[in-house]
Amino acid sequence: MTVYEVGPRDGLQAEPGVVPTAVKAELCRRLAAAGVRRLEVTSFVAPRWVPALADAEALMGQLRGRLDAETVCLVPNRRGLQRAVAAGATEVAVLTSATDTFARANLNTDRDGALRAAVELTGLVLDAGLRVRGYVSMAFADPWEGPVDPAAVAGIGAALHGAGCRTVSLGDTIGAATPGHVTAVVAALGAAGVPTGALALHGHDTYGQALANVYAALLAGVTEFDASVGGLGRCPYAPGATGNLATEDLVWMLHGLGIATGLDLDQLVRTSAWLAARTGRAGIASRAATALLAADASATETEGAAT
Ligand code: MG
Repeated sequence: MTVYEVGPRDGLQAEPGVVPTAVKAELCRRLAAAGVRRLEVTSFVAPRWVPALADAEALMGQLRGRLDAETVCLVPNRRGLQRAVAAGATEVAVLTSATDTFARANLNTDRDGALRAAVELTGLVLDAGLRVRGYVSMAFADPWEGPVDPAAVAGIGAALHGAGCRTVSLGDTIGAATPGHVTAVVAALGAAGVPTGALALHGHDTYGQALANVYAALLAGVTEFDASVGGLGRCPYAPGATGNLATEDLVWMLHGLGIATGLDLDQLVRTSAWLAARTGRAGIASRAATALLAADASATETEGAAT
């Protein structure tokens, strides 16, 4: 089972305040040491769009050759791809949207235009000798348009897969999906010719459904799940959104099911606590991390009382 870690990019991009590059680099090193082998590090967007990621080159420079993990970078266009290749990305992620409204708000085009651009970009990434991951944002629901038709998502996923994306990540961008909807979308992609083994689920826990959705996807044969250490990240388009599914919560469930991930849960929890201390974040948006840290603190107190 593959856990695809999005904390440094998708997580920190949406956090308030800018995290120093050295802290981001240390976060990436700690995640790799905890066993993360697929890590989305940053995004080569124009710095004026996402100031939190304006240090993409500097961060990649600090990590270059020193990270035992796939180093994935999100790119929005040809210029971003050139920057990612020059910076040493080993894999590139491209973005599409299942709805017109999100595409207009975020990608400055409509749904079909975003898909055409992503397909073209995928070809360029493959020409550069790198692997490609294709995101479908708003693959379940959109705050403006409501529930999204699985057939529309399947069409986009099939186009990305056909263009050469190794993975198609289905983004529950606002965290509104429910397990039956996940089952329907995975089935629609299968009917459109996309092997389930090529799918990933990118969940948000806004409505508390993220792990239930993962479980539905697991039963349907999906083998890659996106998550963010400490539940970092929010969605600016979903009021009340709690962020990405926390890596620790996902790993707790997968290990409980007897499914190996290669990840060290204790190290992930310590990484969350370390980062929270450095970013001044109150609490950690992971139930498993919070519970494990509380159990640790209580064990330490007990030991102290005994001596
Ligand atoms: Mg996300």
